Amino acid sequence: MKVTKDRQEIKKIINLNNIKELNFIKTKNNEIIFGSTTPLIQVEKFILKYYPDFNNILRRYGSVQIRNVGTIGGNIATASPIGDTLPLLLSLNAKIIIQTKKGNKQILLNNFFIKYRKTKLKKGEFIKSIIIPIYKNHNFKAYKISKRFDDDISSVCASFNFKIKDQKIQDVTIAYGGMAEIPKRAKNCENFLKNSKFSEDIFEKAKDLLKRDFNPISDMRASKQYRLEVAKNLLIKFFIETKTKKLFRVYQ
Ligand SMILES: Cc1cc2nc3c(=O)[nH]c(=O)nc-3n(C[C@H](O)[C@H](O)[C@H](O)COP(=O)(O)OP(=O)(O)OC[C@H]3O[C@@H](n4cnc5c(N)ncnc54)[C@H](O)[C@@H]3O)c2cc1C
Repeated sequence: MKVTKDRQEIKKIINLNNIKELNFIKTKNNEIIFGSTTPLIQVEKFILKYYPDFNNILRRYGSVQIRNVGTIGGNIATASPIGDTLPLLLSLNAKIIIQTKKGNKQILLNNFFIKYRKTKLKKGEFIKSIIIPIYKNHNFKAYKISKRFDDDISSVCASFNFKIKDQKIQDVTIAYGGMAEIPKRAKNCENFLKNSKFSEDIFEKAKDLLKRDFNPISDMRASKQYRLEVAKNLLIKFFIETKTKKLFRVYQ
């Protein structure tokens, strides 16, 4: 972006993709750990068995060529409000390990994005790895809305992570991309849903709280009104798909 959009000349470049110690995938203590330079194509394959919708979203991320080169750490560090992995990682309560000059520090991804494309990374620091909890009894779903189905940037991306027991919502984390200057959790909506009944009535009320969580912009991808409406509809879609145990998708 610095070269293609800002026309900057970059004097020194470190190609993190050449550091093999940062390219790894492992599971430990009910967590998936991705080294930051793991190509998205490998994330896509590995995550399928844990979170099929994470795989679904990645299959629509750019093209195979892009996913062969683009890394999970790069998508996070880019901090784009429409970076496709970001709402998914937020709703899964992912953490990142940051390598500093003095050692490592761990932070919740939810505390990483400060403002438009600005993160907590300081000079000389980089993302070393990404830790994703494995939720065994949760309902995790994610949806990407874009003008073209393949190889397009999201207008809105939504990700839902619910723990539902005996028709009650015990835990809930919801995050959206394309709805604010950073990928962001829907806290008002989450607070309302937590400990509520898993019912249509509750979801109909919850969807109206999204306008308290988000004040999206209009741009060439979508208008503010469209983004808000689609965000609400995706919440209802999550409810219907979970309730009926059926998927209403273009492809599955
Ligand atoms: C044709 C095309 C289609 C695309 N489609 C999509 C799409 O569908 N969805 C989507 O979300 N994005 C899409 N993108 C955007 C692109 O995939 C992201 O910008 C990508 O995630 C960048 O990853 P990278 O590994 O190539 O990072 P780079 O481009 O190498 O780096 C991006 C920035 O992050 C920094 N960085 C990289 N790794 C680290 C690290 N480990 N620690 C700290 N900083 C780091 C770099 O210094 C740089 O500032 C597309 C891009 C193209 C060109």
